[in-house]
Amino acid sequence: VFITFEGPEGAGKTTVISAIYDRLKNQGKKVLLTREPGGIKISEDIRGIILDNENTEMDAKTEALLYAAARRQHLVEKVIPALAQGYIVLCDRFIDSSLAYQGYARGIGIDEILEINKFAIGEAMPDVTVFFDIRPEEGLARVLNNDQREQNRLDKEDLSFHHKVYEGYQQVIQRYCDRIVVTDASLKQDEVAENVYKIIASRIM
Ligand code: C5P
Ligand code: MG
Repeated sequence: VFITFEGPEGAGKTTVISAIYDRLKNQGKKVLLTREPGGIKISEDIRGIILDNENTEMDAKTEALLYAAARRQHLVEKVIPALAQGYIVLCDRFIDSSLAYQGYARGIGIDEILEINKFAIGEAMPDVTVFFDIRPEEGLARVLNNDQREQNRLDKEDLSFHHKVYEGYQQVIQRYCDRIVVTDASLKQDEVAENVYKIIASRIM
């Protein structure tokens, strides 16, 4: 089962997913936790190229292609083999991030980004996707409160960019309403984790 997690900055995805990973693992399930962009050497390197270029402006289409390349390598090298061995794969971000960030917020177009991602991933879509729903202001406040480096990176964008990301996600959710389940990420972390666990449990038991 291929499960992906999406949401704006500071939604608490990473923390909640790792709690869920521990819980499934303790039940003796075969479960793999990974992330995008990254998860393996080549894709982590690409992540570095995209995210650590603090002083240079990367062209939006270049960025979109790099994300798609990182996604493909991660998929063929790690995700697809794990799925074939019966693992539950939990992936922090996947195609919907590209649709929302590059497609909508960067203005390339959701259909255009879908096109290059179809080329990159073929039929390998998630079975279920959990969207961590939080207002951009609230999410950003969480990030800015606890990470200086992230703060510098995110400062390059104004709030309107993060609003666009959120709007982009809303469009993606509408388009894929059968696949994407929305959870309230403004609740306390353990409540969010419990709700997300229930969503996942209903799909894997
Ligand atoms: O918190 P996380 O590790 O998911 O952060 C990755 C960063 O990469 C996000 O802050 C987001 O700004 C960026 N990103 C992006 N487009 C994607 C995926 C991630 O801009 N398709
Ligand atoms: Mg995270």
